[in-house]
Amino acid sequence: MKAVRIHQFGGPEVLRYEDVADPRPRKDQVLVRVKAVAMNHLDLWVRNGLPGVSLPHILGSDVAGEVVEVGEYVTSVKAGQRVLVAPMHFCNHCTQCVAGRQNMCREFTVLGNAIDGGNCELMAIAAVNIIPLPDHLDFDQAASVPLVFLTAFHMLTGRASVRPGNTVLVLAANSGVGIAAIQVAKLFRAVVISTAGTDEKMAKARELGADYVIDHYRQNISEEVKNITHREGVDIVVEHVGPATWEHSLRSLKPSGTLVTCGATTGPQVGIDLRFVFSRQLSILGSYMGTMGELNQVLKHVFSGRLKPVVDQVFPLADARSAHEYMEQSEMFGKIVMNP
Ligand SMILES: [Zn+2]
Repeated sequence: MKAVRIHQFGGPEVLRYEDVADPRPRKDQVLVRVKAVAMNHLDLWVRNGLPGVSLPHILGSDVAGEVVEVGEYVTSVKAGQRVLVAPMHFCNHCTQCVAGRQNMCREFTVLGNAIDGGNCELMAIAAVNIIPLPDHLDFDQAASVPLVFLTAFHMLTGRASVRPGNTVLVLAANSGVGIAAIQVAKLFRAVVISTAGTDEKMAKARELGADYVIDHYRQNISEEVKNITHREGVDIVVEHVGPATWEHSLRSLKPSGTLVTCGATTGPQVGIDLRFVFSRQLSILGSYMGTMGELNQVLKHVFSGRLKPVVDQVFPLADARSAHEYMEQSEMFGKIVMNP
């Protein structure tokens, strides 16, 4: 088969479209023909170099495709079925896994991070990861869903316990997590304030359901949040940007508010004024992916049309380099998808 692999860490130039041996499914695995694979910021981090990644390596977390064949023990799906792949690896037998907390498993990793991912034509993957896909969702849309919608769902429901009437600040409406978090927060009847960098992106954020949108280049985020909330602040901040927004995120919280973070696209180090955190009784929560239970819950809303994936642009897998360069420019609104 063809695959995009990296043999060394670095810029988009390290991506190589090349021949790789076809994978063979184990008895508990399914062989999937990849029809679409969506990009995430994780692809850039892994490509630039993360510990735990062995080379050569295949990137790509979010895969939609068709079942080619199934292993002897697999009864849940058949050849020819359209499916989505849960973008995670877990042992499926430790106490965390059997309790349904797969993202706490010692073996837990994201597909395409510490294990090979979906930037290829064929994937052998555990049957437990396979989720049948309804006909009305095309492969590009489907591949745009799992990682970001699961992440946003776990952040807002599993970690920050969003409730009707809460006010939620979602940073970077144009990002995958932003697009998902705006919609998930609205699903739970929250008032949503989001941020975007151009008039066009601000309009798209409103179309997704954001009640208020702040121009994060021309306006001061925390001052605008104070104006919108009549000096009160928000209950929850969905943070995934890092140093570029951190100060504003903390300052936007109301007393006893919750900041939940799942990423650090502008860098890993931030400062915290402890006096501000304890005197205002703030909660700062980490969030990493989500559970299989949460993935199935959020997919119900996607499959029924209440939550909508947004595809920005589709590239051929053979031109993965252009897709990476495009993502690094951060001009997109929605997901970048590649087709093998
Ligand atoms: Zn486990």
